[in-house]
Amino acid sequence: MAWRSSGSTNAGLVNNLAQNGLITNDRVKDAMLQVDRSHYAPTSPFDDSPQLIGHQATISAPHMHASACESLLPFLNPGSRVLDIGSGSGYLTAVFAKLVGETGTVIGVEHIQPLVALAQANMRKSADGRQMLDSGRVRFIKADGRKGWKDGAPYDAIHVGAAAAEHHVELTEQLKAPGRLFVPVAEGWMQHIYVVDKKSDGSVERKKLYGVQYVPLTDAPVE
Ligand code: SAH
Repeated sequence: MAWRSSGSTNAGLVNNLAQNGLITNDRVKDAMLQVDRSHYAPTSPFDDSPQLIGHQATISAPHMHASACESLLPFLNPGSRVLDIGSGSGYLTAVFAKLVGETGTVIGVEHIQPLVALAQANMRKSADGRQMLDSGRVRFIKADGRKGWKDGAPYDAIHVGAAAAEHHVELTEQLKAPGRLFVPVAEGWMQHIYVVDKKSDGSVERKKLYGVQYVPLTDAPVE
């Protein structure tokens, strides 16, 4: 039913996602209204479907972006630190930056350099995007996201936008206590979203949510 949320404008798409119950929280809705998806998706930006962005990567479907934000929301507060692994187009990185506000920090990690450059260029299409980059509130870094990004740790929230072949322990290690990880994990032919909570006492609880289809989290292509 996800396709029913498609719109002809950014606001139309976001309002349809909310009307169909795919966005339930006003903070998520406001953040998605503030980031123009047409700056990040090259074709049909307001369709509720994934789109190719080159280098075998896709910008995920809007309902998946909404779901990731809603799951991580208790950890996306003013001043929070966020890691967005497999940042691709940079769209979700920008939405996270809206959610954590001017005192927050979001780091996008991507292992393909042209996609690092693409995310930066996409964000530079708007004045507030340029401000987010120039102030250092948002950074895009070329690295292997399976190891997280230790230099910026610990994080309140970590999002992984590609399917992991295993539960990478580095990611949970780089969470604050409390903190939350949202990660698609491949299990045979299936992939499922896992939400991993590190509690205040440092204990870790893992919940398996729904089945998904993501680009795999892989070795970087040979340059
Ligand atoms: N959240 C992004 C999703 C992009 S698709 C968006 O909606 O635009 C997944 C991305 O993960 C791709 O850009 C791919 O290049 C990247 N990726 C895959 N394996 C990776 C790895 N090991 N480290 C960092 N990024 C990786």
